Parts: sequence; C-alpha cells; structure tokens
Amino acid sequence: MSNSLTIALSKGRILEDTCPLLEQAGIKPAEDISKTRKLIIPTNHSHIRLLIVRASDVPTYVEHGAADIGVAGKDVLMEHDSDELYEPLDLNISRCRLMTAAPVGYQEQPGKRVRVATKFVNVAKKYYASQGKQVDIIKLYGSMELAPLIGLADQIVDIVDTGNTLKANGLEPREHIADISSRLVVNKASMKVKHAMISQLVEQMGVAVAREQRS
Ligand code: AMP
Repeated sequence: MSNSLTIALSKGRILEDTCPLLEQAGIKPAEDISKTRKLIIPTNHSHIRLLIVRASDVPTYVEHGAADIGVAGKDVLMEHDSDELYEPLDLNISRCRLMTAAPVGYQEQPGKRVRVATKFVNVAKKYYASQGKQVDIIKLYGSMELAPLIGLADQIVDIVDTGNTLKANGLEPREHIADISSRLVVNKASMKVKHAMISQLVEQMGVAVAREQRS
C-alpha cells in the first residue's frame, strides 16, 4: 500500500540506539519491544509498523521491498554489497570498527597462507586482495575470537568497539578495515512511490541525528 510504511530493525544495540531517533521523528512502538515476542510491531501511527529481523537480514528485507526502510550497520551493508538500496542517512549510532585481529605477538610466516576466520567473508576477501595477500577464509557465524585460540585460524576479521573482547581472549587489533556506524537504508521503488513520506522521515531523523551529535 502506497500510504503505509514498514521499517525493518534488528534487536539489540541497533534497536536501542534507533528507537530514540525514531521517537524524535514522532514514531513510537505501540508496545514494549524489549518484552514482546511479536515480530511485527504497530506504532502510534496506524500506517507505520516495525519489523524485527536478524541484523544481517535487514538489507534483504529492504532490497525486496518487504520493508520500505531499514536500519543496518555499515558492516552488514558492506558484506551484503547491494546496488539495490539507497543509503540516505548515517545515523551515527552503534559506532565501532571493522578490524583484523590476531593473537598478541603473532607474526605471519613467510610462504605460509594465512587462515582468516570471519563472518564477513566478502569484506575480508576484498580487504586482503586489496593488500595483495592471498588468504584462506573460514566462514563462522559468531565467536570469531575463539578460532585463533584453538588453532582453527591465524587471524580474524571482526567488529571491535572497546577492544575488551579481543583482550580477554589474548588477541590484539591489527589492521583497520573500516569505521562502522548504522545507516538508514531505503528500498529504491519505495523511495519513488512513497517519496513524500520517506523524505520527510529521512529529514526528521537527520535533524534528530544532528541534535544527538550536538548534545
Ligand atoms: P568490544 O569488546 O567492546 O570490542 O566489543 C566487541 C564485540 O561486541 C564484538 O564481538 C562485536 O560482535 C560486538 N560489537 C561491538 N560493537 C558493535 C556494533 N556497533 N555492532 C555490532 N556488534 C558490535
């Protein structure tokens, strides 16, 4: 329906950081998202609803038009690597860095291919290729820090915020791949069909982001 708006969000940090921005744009969930098990959540506007999806699925929902708008980390968007999404606004929330990491003191051995464990397979392939390095990528879905500890991999590519998780596991950050923050993404067809509604929301959220930055 051209007068409805569906917004895809993922639970956890992104949801916590996005809700205050949505609220400043006048959109409030009709129930407590942290308590409900519902995946489709109505809001204070009858034509706007929220979808709760897995973080890495946000670009897929938006790309296919199942959601008009979504909020996704730049890490997820880099890994998804789609031309089918507009990315009109950096929300400047959930900031962190995408980095390589290795056991403290680790040194690459000449002539030996480095094994890299990560869930960011595409990003890692591109990054190491850009460094002229041929590596073996091992796909994991979580707890990447474990891989070098038990000999599954030599290095990892992962999200680093404070660095505490790396430190607690005897690892250290090495190379910086990208600065990460969450972005508003918009389905291309929705942007045409629902232009007034979406551009108003992007503008209001932009004002909220600027306000947060100043405070
Ligand atoms: P830290 O110990 O603060 O460096 O946090 C690292 C862990 O928290 C990583 O394993 C990440 O999976 C997760 N993490 C930190 N920041 C973010 C973020 N902005 N988005 C998603 N995951 C994050």
